[in-house]
Amino acid sequence: MRPPKMRYCKKCVYPASSAVPLAFDDQGVCSGCRTAAERVEINWDKKKKIFERIIEEHRSKDGRNYDCIIPVSGGKDSYFQVHVIKKVYGLNPLLVTYNGNNYTKTGLENVQNMREVFGVDHIFFTPSIDTLVKLNRIGFKLMGDMNWHAHAGIYTYPVRVAVQFNVPLMIWGEHGFMDLGGMHSYKDLVEFTYRYRHEHCLRGFEWHDMTDEGLARLGKPEIEEGLTAKDLLPWMYPTDEEISRVGVRGLFLANYLKWEANEHGQMVIEKYGFKPSPEPFDRTYRRMSNLDDMHENGLHDYMKYVKFGYGRATDHCCKDIRSGKMTRDEAVKIVRQMDHVKPRDLGRWLPYVGMTEGEFDRIADTFRDARVWWQEGDSWRKDNLWDESTAAVGI
Ligand SMILES: [Zn+2]
Repeated sequence: MRPPKMRYCKKCVYPASSAVPLAFDDQGVCSGCRTAAERVEINWDKKKKIFERIIEEHRSKDGRNYDCIIPVSGGKDSYFQVHVIKKVYGLNPLLVTYNGNNYTKTGLENVQNMREVFGVDHIFFTPSIDTLVKLNRIGFKLMGDMNWHAHAGIYTYPVRVAVQFNVPLMIWGEHGFMDLGGMHSYKDLVEFTYRYRHEHCLRGFEWHDMTDEGLARLGKPEIEEGLTAKDLLPWMYPTDEEISRVGVRGLFLANYLKWEANEHGQMVIEKYGFKPSPEPFDRTYRRMSNLDDMHENGLHDYMKYVKFGYGRATDHCCKDIRSGKMTRDEAVKIVRQMDHVKPRDLGRWLPYVGMTEGEFDRIADTFRDARVWWQEGDSWRKDNLWDESTAAVGI
């Protein structure tokens, strides 16, 4: 059955089916665009002072421990976070990386270079590859996301390290759902919470759902991989008691300093030798994002298109429209060209997990969202951005 006509934001190019929760106002503008517009009016000096007060409270008094933890992938945002914390404020951070075994060659070179140029201590953690392969298969079959392990790992492992090293302050970059969908206002100064991690980053699943008992409980015994609690240690979030004993607190830097991804990217290239990808990606025009995980811009993102009818090119266009770097008409052309592309990293992933392309397509199709797709004969159809008037209204 054909769903109601898909609604798109009048200012950016997000559909109402966006994976990131967003709402439209009576002018047809999405909450992500409205929140992004706050950044022009905010008194950033005042925010900076709040940030400085917090970090001074956490600076190690006798220098016998790290001042903070920075979870890093080695991407342009990581470079910027370390630049601010180490170079601008002179703190002594411990960098923590979750390695999901999907780095691009350039992404790995950037991680190595980051250690050298900043002169910081760095934990580069790699879970068992055998477990990673199993989690790729379970994630794909259970929720259409082979990269669940990565999102869970990035938002769990560094918090475990904070508890283990007794370092309360964590410095994250942007709050994804706030940045893309306007879930919170910049005025709220939201901090990292278990709930944000669990509901959004981890899609409501936890490590115990990945064990045989967990999958049986979810009614999915056919996708069991024999994983047990001991295989899943890196994905176990610390207990409430541990978090409160250490006083773990996660700040999003984008709440305190005006975040301009393109400008930060340029700065870290010039000042610290960060390298963008030498090759274009299949599904986005940006070469500076997600070099730490070839499937993040590739197959993981292709699944977003299969589910919700849009992809990474839409995400990046929305950011660039909001920061005044792109017009909506230009964005529509890019989205039309890139959002549907089946990416080349399928050629790595299928043998990695031992799956055929036919099997992949069959499972992928089970995740198509009925708000977006309908079938005509053998083909899947959806309403497209370019079917509407593409002229942005004067907002
Ligand atoms: Zn919008």
